[in-house]
Amino acid sequence: MAVSRSHLVLMGPPGAGKGTQADLLAEHLRVPHISTGGMLRDEAQRGSELGKKAKRLMDRGELVPDEIMLGIVRDRIGAPDCARGYILDGFPRSIRQAEDLEKLNGEAGPLLALSLRVPAEVVIKRLSSRRTCRPCGAMYHLVSSPPKKPDVCDRCGGELYQRDDDREDVIHARLEVYRRETEPLLAYYGKRNALVEVDGTGSRDDVFQRLLEGLAGRGAA
Ligand code: AMP
Repeated sequence: MAVSRSHLVLMGPPGAGKGTQADLLAEHLRVPHISTGGMLRDEAQRGSELGKKAKRLMDRGELVPDEIMLGIVRDRIGAPDCARGYILDGFPRSIRQAEDLEKLNGEAGPLLALSLRVPAEVVIKRLSSRRTCRPCGAMYHLVSSPPKKPDVCDRCGGELYQRDDDREDVIHARLEVYRRETEPLLAYYGKRNALVEVDGTGSRDDVFQRLLEGLAGRGAA
């Protein structure tokens, strides 16, 4: 069965630029950008039981249990705006999540995974100077893409903050979890002939062009 052209999974280590590229792709393909980390941070901000539990794990760089994540993703991709497709950013993060997603996706056929390759030393630098907008989730980099006004989001005027899990000690834990739990997914999607890998270094626009070329090479975009 041919891979889906609009049901996409964006992969890569923390700090690879998944959020930024998922936004661009979502606009280009006119499908929703679904960030599971963003959804968990919203829950944490609301102070729900789920949000409090997720925050404790996120602050240590650990993964939220698969059953919880699957429930969240099942509800979200079942929403009417996902009928034509979606871009998942941050999900799946384990083989179990990938297998469950495949079942959930059912009729839409196998997903296509896009993976951003970025060396560890680059992501460590990017994450430690990253700032995130509290209300809208937009991301900035203090050196390469600073906001026009310090600590204020260009897009919505909201407050920029440093995520608790973007501290140096937590960054190392997140990278370790990525290597152990998530990197095996590259082989998983590779075996299904459903993987496009691109160089994730360089400017936002260069990386986006590479992703579009990768999609075009698969008959998509
Ligand atoms: P992200 O914004 O994608 O970097 O995610 C931030 C944190 O949210 C991760 O470090 C995990 O603690 C949690 N998280 C996000 N997505 C998942 C997922 N698919 N499975 C488990 N935990 C997740």
